[in-house]
Amino acid sequence: MHLTNLHTHTTYCDGQNSAEEMIQAAIKCGFQSIGISTHGPVQFENDWAIKNEDIERYMDEINRLKEKYKGYICVFRGMELDYIPGIGFDEINKKLINRLDYYIGSVHCMGKLKGDSMWTVDGNIEELMEGIDKSFNGSIKSTVEAYYSLIAEMAINYEPPIIGHLDLIKKYNKNNVLFDESESWYKTCVINCLESIKKTGSILEVNTGGMSRGYISEQYPSDFILELIKEMNIPIMINSDSHDIGSIDYKFDEMYELVRSLRFDKASYLTKNGFSTQGI
Ligand SMILES: [Zn+2]
Ligand SMILES: [Zn+2]
Repeated sequence: MHLTNLHTHTTYCDGQNSAEEMIQAAIKCGFQSIGISTHGPVQFENDWAIKNEDIERYMDEINRLKEKYKGYICVFRGMELDYIPGIGFDEINKKLINRLDYYIGSVHCMGKLKGDSMWTVDGNIEELMEGIDKSFNGSIKSTVEAYYSLIAEMAINYEPPIIGHLDLIKKYNKNNVLFDESESWYKTCVINCLESIKKTGSILEVNTGGMSRGYISEQYPSDFILELIKEMNIPIMINSDSHDIGSIDYKFDEMYELVRSLRFDKASYLTKNGFSTQGI
C-alpha cells in the first residue's frame, strides 16, 4: 500500500519542526509520499498561519526539498487554506491555489472578535465561548449549524481537493459538554453538509490530530459520520494533521483498521498526475 500523509504543519505556521525534519520523519515511517500543508495566510493578527512575507520562501523551500529527497519520497507542496465567513478564500489564497500540488480547505474561523481578528472553533475554549456569545447570542446550536453550512458552502463554491477535519467543532466537546452528537438536529447538520460534499469531487480526511494532541479520544470525523460517508460513497483518506515529527503517522494502523471495519475498501492518495485511489 502507498503510505502517505498530506496534512502536516511546520515552523512556517504553528508546527514544531521544519519541513525537512517532517520529510525525514516520513521517510523513517516508510511513507512513499508526504504533503506539507502549512496554514495559508490570513489577513488578521494570529499566531498560527504563515506570514505573507514568508510565502515565497516556503514555496521555494518545498520545491528544493522535493528535489533533494526525490529518490526517497515524493514530496507535495500543499497548504491548508482557511475558508473565511463572508469572504471564502481571499484573493491571496485564491492565487496560491494554482501554484500548489493540492490544498486542504478548512473552516476554523467563525466570526470577528476584536477589530478584524477572528475567533476559531479550535483555538481555545475561552475564545470559543466568547465567540459563541458574540457571534451567535450564546447559541451552540446556531454555531454548529453555521459551521457545517460554511463547510458545505466551501465545498460547493471551490470543491477543495481535500476537506479538513469535518467535525472540528467537536474539539472542545469532550463528554458532550457543549452539545450531544446523538441528537437529531446535530445529525441533520452533518447529513446536509455531506449531501453538498457528495455533489463535489472533494475527499474527506480521517484526521488523527485531535487525538495526538490529547483534545479528544476519537478521530475527526466521528464513527457515525464515517458510516454516513461510506453510505454516500464519498472518498476518504487518512491524515494526521501532524504538528511535530512524533505524530506523523499517529494511530494510522488503528484508523485503517477502523475504516476497513466500516467496509471502506479504498482510500485516496496523491500522485504526480493527481489524485488516485488504492485498495486498503
Ligand atoms: Zn485545521
Ligand atoms: Zn491542520
